[in-house]
Amino acid sequence: MTSSIIIEPSTLYIVATPIGNLGDITLRAIDTLKHVDLIAAEDTRHSGLLLQHLSIHAKLYPLHDHNEQQKAQQLVEKLKSGLSIALISDAGTPLINDPGYHLVKTCREQNIKVVPIPGACAAIAALCVSGLPTDKFCYEGFLPAKSKARIDYLTQLQQETRTLVFYESTHRIIDSLHDMVAVFGKDKSIVLAKELTKSWETIVQLSISELIMWLIEDENRQKGEFVLILEGYKKSSDEALDPTAIKLLNRLQQELPLKKAAAIVADVYGLKKNQLYQLGLDNKSEQN
Ligand code: SAM
Repeated sequence: MTSSIIIEPSTLYIVATPIGNLGDITLRAIDTLKHVDLIAAEDTRHSGLLLQHLSIHAKLYPLHDHNEQQKAQQLVEKLKSGLSIALISDAGTPLINDPGYHLVKTCREQNIKVVPIPGACAAIAALCVSGLPTDKFCYEGFLPAKSKARIDYLTQLQQETRTLVFYESTHRIIDSLHDMVAVFGKDKSIVLAKELTKSWETIVQLSISELIMWLIEDENRQKGEFVLILEGYKKSSDEALDPTAIKLLNRLQQELPLKKAAAIVADVYGLKKNQLYQLGLDNKSEQN
């Protein structure tokens, strides 16, 4: 294993930085930040503190969400002239709910080499301690700010079978959880991963309504940075369905397209069309 890195000219390095605990910076990240010609950073003052801690005296270049498209081309020109550049964000992995997408896209379109220097990411850190399935998951980032848009968005995820990972802020955590109750029900289990890698790191698994109570009990619990992880939708087993509904679906499936058969059974028995459609597909694949 080696930490040394040869910095190449005309190359953009995407460097992950800690999400709290400064010990989480990698050896490659330090080497890269020490040796590049320029560091593009979301908040140059904030990143300046990290660089000071690492005794790195690099030139910083501001790159925010609101100026990224315009600055991306300027950075690309610098890369083309032979400079090596590292991109960092305030915390964690750049581009994961942080600036960098336009820059990387522009670089790749213009055949400029982009090298990852991986490290901390709150979503991954939270997921792997959640105890929820990690084989397939959806990273959802922040939910919409307004309740109506949030409920609409969550409703689209109601039948998502993969584990769902959300970022949430102090100001919206309670409102978002109330909307999750409206869409997923109060008893659905949720994991809250708070202040990961910091001294007040807390990981709790409760029902959504219990989590709201837990947060309300002590206002300090609502402060800090959060990742919320929800288990994906579980298909109900066939036993949970009325056997006569299954029988009718099987019979109609022989005469009608599955979509139509599922819609009729859903209507007659007050069931979910998608659930019946899936059952019909399972029936078909069992017969083949
Ligand atoms: N790029 C970052 C990453 O790789 O995770 C994410 C940046 S995003 C602007 C900030 C959000 O990430 C926070 O509001 C919170 O939801 C989550 N986050 C960042 N650090 C965290 C931590 N130490 N513990 C829990 N969540 C964290």
